[in-house]
Amino acid sequence: MSTNRPGKAAKKAAPKVPAAALPDGFAVGPWLRNFRRRLMTWYGKNARQLPWRQTRDPYRVWISEIMLQQTQVATVIPYFQRFVETLPTVEHLAAVDEQQVLRLWEGLGYYRRARQLHAAAKTIVAEHAGQFPSDQTAIAKLPGIGRYTAAAIASIAFGARAAILEANTRRLYARLLAHRGELESSAAQARLWSFAEHLLPKQDCGTFNQALMELGATICQPRSPQCEACPVAELCPTFALGLQDEIPRAARKVKVEDVREAAVIVRSPAGQVLVLRYEPGQRWAGLWDFVRFPLPESRALEAAYDASHAADAAVDGLPTFLANEVQRRTGYRVAVEPRAIAQIKHPVTRYRITLKAFVAELTGPPDGKQKSTTAVEATQNESTWVDVAQLHHLPLSATGRKLAKLVEKL
Ligand code: SF4
Repeated sequence: MSTNRPGKAAKKAAPKVPAAALPDGFAVGPWLRNFRRRLMTWYGKNARQLPWRQTRDPYRVWISEIMLQQTQVATVIPYFQRFVETLPTVEHLAAVDEQQVLRLWEGLGYYRRARQLHAAAKTIVAEHAGQFPSDQTAIAKLPGIGRYTAAAIASIAFGARAAILEANTRRLYARLLAHRGELESSAAQARLWSFAEHLLPKQDCGTFNQALMELGATICQPRSPQCEACPVAELCPTFALGLQDEIPRAARKVKVEDVREAAVIVRSPAGQVLVLRYEPGQRWAGLWDFVRFPLPESRALEAAYDASHAADAAVDGLPTFLANEVQRRTGYRVAVEPRAIAQIKHPVTRYRITLKAFVAELTGPPDGKQKSTTAVEATQNESTWVDVAQLHHLPLSATGRKLAKLVEKL
């Protein structure tokens, strides 16, 4: 006869560490309660003091969420502070010119976010009497706001029970589920969203969501996660299996392309410089820049371009090409100096761009009268002449701003 009867101690046993991923039904009650408690306790002691966490004002939560998309927290902080100091309410944002919004955004990149932010502010004023909508569905209808951002605003600002899935939580969920497959498919996304909903507590979802993101951002990092310091390590199957380097599976690598570009700083005899505005639909729509274009595939031109920094290099053909291109794009005839005055290397999405800057002098008065009527492209961008001091007030691309600083010293 067996005498092995469960005693009191066995009934009160602590939740066990799952040796493998949670089942797709996710119904592991003790695990879930333990996870929520550990996460919130950890967050209460370790949350970073960030300017947008001092408030539940939906305007500030919204601005911070948009700025944080694809941008590091440390980069966002000064931009956020300057933005809400200059434009403290949605009405202020809706009332200003897009140029001012872009100038405040300058250097943050992904400028579409700023244009959509401005458009959304106008919608809120026109359709919601200036009150930020509290309903997640209404928030998601605003320009530039997707499922994640709507849920983040609804939960943080209005306490809605809304699940989130963004870069940090996607990685965290994948590890908590020991999800070994890729994460891009719609099936994987559906699984992660479902898990995010499963995790949500009944109340204080805004703080809970921020805690999840904080854990992903500061502990469960992409490379070398700090599992030793992780409050949920005992509940993490990826940690138990030692698979932190394999989960999540790395996305397919994008092939990087090298691109050579030229920026021509065209000066007038009066000391003004020519700038062009990017049109709607272009990557930097609404921003201004010097005359800028990619080099065509041509061995001779590429060789001259690559050598254009050296004082004694042969750069035959390059100044003529650059002058023709300026005329084709702006209508102005110019003489280009053969040596590049600066070189900037910078990545844009999958392109590794080398940008060289050249100086050109206008070969006539900057009054537009000498614009060619035959060589001008029908789609050329709006151009204007400005004093060097005015460059400070125009929203420029990041490289345009670097060149503007050089122009001040010419
Ligand atoms: Fe991430 Fe490691 Fe924590 Fe698991 S134990 S959630 S892998 S930091």
